[in-house]
Amino acid sequence: MSSELQSENPPTPHQRENCIFCRIASGEIPSHVVYEDEQLKAFLDIQPIRPGHVLIIPKTHHDYYDDLPPDLASAIVHLGQRLGKVMKSIYSVERVAFLFTGTDVAHVHAHVVPMHEKTDITSPIYIEQQDLTFRLAPRAGDDELRQVVAALSTQLDHAVAGK
Ligand SMILES: [Zn+2]
Repeated sequence: MSSELQSENPPTPHQRENCIFCRIASGEIPSHVVYEDEQLKAFLDIQPIRPGHVLIIPKTHHDYYDDLPPDLASAIVHLGQRLGKVMKSIYSVERVAFLFTGTDVAHVHAHVVPMHEKTDITSPIYIEQQDLTFRLAPRAGDDELRQVVAALSTQLDHAVAGK
């Protein structure tokens, strides 16, 4: 990033320069947004484990979930609960995984994943063949991601309005 760009768009005191999730939170980098309010943004993982795989981030920068103020941690979990209900309905799954892994980007993000198989979220410790190698999940197409946003955000709005 050039110094000119930095002076035009200085990060707020609660954001970090060169943090990709701070830039997604501010809208500087576009994302497939499922939900947004003053504190949080929920958007699709573009390399989903399963269709509907959502990331929830706080708009303020905190490295890891154990750095979060309790009210913000609570808001993330609550949104994850609401998304979980919607995903169970849309994808006809019994379980939705909610996890903070702390990998890839050091800006708190909760993964919310419709679980079609118990092994959708797993560890190599459970796998008998120990010489496995792991790769990133394939990049999903934008048309597919837009359809997922439409389905999730519509039902999420409905769920909120119904309260
Ligand atoms: Zn950040």
